[in-house]
Amino acid sequence: MKLDLRTLLAGECRTLPFQFPLDPPDDTEDPGSILYGVRFPSPMEASGEVVNSAGYMRLRLDLSLDFVAPCARCLADVAGTYRFSLEKTVATPKMLEGLDEDKIDEYAIVEDGFLDLDEPARSLLLSEFPSRVLCREDCRGLCQTCGKDLNEGPCSCKADETDPRLSPLSAVLERLREKEKQKTEDK
Ligand SMILES: [Zn+2]
Ligand SMILES: [Zn+2]
Repeated sequence: MKLDLRTLLAGECRTLPFQFPLDPPDDTEDPGSILYGVRFPSPMEASGEVVNSAGYMRLRLDLSLDFVAPCARCLADVAGTYRFSLEKTVATPKMLEGLDEDKIDEYAIVEDGFLDLDEPARSLLLSEFPSRVLCREDCRGLCQTCGKDLNEGPCSCKADETDPRLSPLSAVLERLREKEKQKTEDK
């Protein structure tokens, strides 16, 4: 989406509001992306405004999106809605001449009177979307051995088979239980 800023640049108005649907980025197919496996059941919505204050222009961009993502521990679908926002100074390529690459990222660039909003929207989404979505804070995840969803209850695998680091602990627990049993038997 390219926003036509020509009326704003010509001084015919001071504020230019906008609102449009945005296609989801193709990062959802990239295994290296934080959006890998994320689905967007409806188009994202971008809205905001560009304000021109005597030649100094600011962009405010709000992104609203519904998503479905796999829980990082149990892989169950998690659905939700996010709202992200950014503000950037709008500049022409000429104004940014000689600036470092990473400084240029702080600007929204208007070229030939049009402001590209797809790139700022994509980078906003990639920087704000959480890298791990959980179905709930204390999700127990799947058993490493049998794959059972441990939120539904314990599986029949023994702890010492799944994680050798736990075996000294279970040995201690076993001994405590033995003692406990002897105490009750002694009575
Ligand atoms: Zn989960
Ligand atoms: Zn198991």
